[in-house]
Amino acid sequence: MISRKDAKYRKGAGSSVLHLCETLRLCVKPFEKQKTLTMQTLEKEDRQSVMQKWNKRPLIISGPCSAETEEQVLQTAVRLANTGKVDMLRAGIWKPRTRPGSFEGIGTRALPWLQQAKKQTGLAITVEVATAKQVEDALHFDVDVLWIGARTTVNPFSVQEVADALRGVDVPVLIKNPINPDLELWTGALERVAKAGVKNIGLIHRGFSSYGNTEYRNAPMWHLAIEMKRRYADLPMINDPSHICGRRDILFDVAQKAIDLDYDGLMIETHIDPDNAWSDAKQQITPEQLAEMLDKIVWRREDISSEEYHAALEKLRQQINHLDDELLFILSQRMKISEQIATYKKDNNITILQTRRWNEILDRACKKGEQLGLSKEFITKYLDAVHLESITHQTKIFNS
Ligand code: PEP
Ligand code: MN
Repeated sequence: MISRKDAKYRKGAGSSVLHLCETLRLCVKPFEKQKTLTMQTLEKEDRQSVMQKWNKRPLIISGPCSAETEEQVLQTAVRLANTGKVDMLRAGIWKPRTRPGSFEGIGTRALPWLQQAKKQTGLAITVEVATAKQVEDALHFDVDVLWIGARTTVNPFSVQEVADALRGVDVPVLIKNPINPDLELWTGALERVAKAGVKNIGLIHRGFSSYGNTEYRNAPMWHLAIEMKRRYADLPMINDPSHICGRRDILFDVAQKAIDLDYDGLMIETHIDPDNAWSDAKQQITPEQLAEMLDKIVWRREDISSEEYHAALEKLRQQINHLDDELLFILSQRMKISEQIATYKKDNNITILQTRRWNEILDRACKKGEQLGLSKEFITKYLDAVHLESITHQTKIFNS
């Protein structure tokens, strides 16, 4: 495994600056041994501390949407570190904005500010990368963890470019969900990065774009993140309430829901002067407000060792299994009746689908469901599935 410093030399053989670095490195050979040893020790300690943070649960990542000034980055870092609740400092350096003309990030010039923030506070640092050059620059300035943004995850060319730049570099990478609700794109990005040899990969759920005004800036569509958690149970899943909500007042609810769903951590944007942030002003909070919010969250565990708890849970789970068996039996009975109806329809040359009857079924079930405490949304989805299965059974009879 080559180190991140070597990565700097490995790439861009044509660059005269890098060539100069390489020449200088060769010229200082007599001092190299001692220097290399010290650097290696420092890098090893740095790496251990990063991995400790990476493996901490809950992992809390916070910082401004964008690095704006050196003072803003350092003050945010110090105030976050003072809360004692944050593990990593995030800041956007290159900002992918939906529309041109808005602030597009300070760029490489801001990386030394983050490096300084790490030195002053001990927080690990993480930035978004979208190109090979950004990966190079971030590693050059000792960024500990990289993340791939939602607008990059959608583009296999860009993900591949980032993955290629990561080949042989031992740095953890977080991958945000793509802006559109497509699990295959998210999975594809994950596979590309994994194939490049990156060992520590995590996922960030930041919600999905939808047309029109909704309560959220990006609809959470929790079931998609839950499915990714199921597919990749070993990878940390971080929730990003800031980009899901797009506003401060519902940040807590989303963060709590993520913890209730056994997420491994949170990424939340903070700013020393949120209202005047250069990007995403509406969703940022101060470091102190973040600390208050983290204090309010009820942190849940997936499991405990108490026998009493397990016995009670087991009993309830048995009941659920029993009811599920009954539901399946009843559903199969329902399909048998559909098949009998299909025989009558076939004999009398009647269509399978009868819209008026279908509306009647939906109406009746929604009313009944409401009395029983079941949401209209659930009843509709459930009946849609039952109806489709019923049509499949009836079609078989028609074709027999
Ligand atoms: C960000 O984290 O500031 C950002 C641009 O996020 P996303 O890629 O989720 O839009
Ligand atoms: Mn942002």
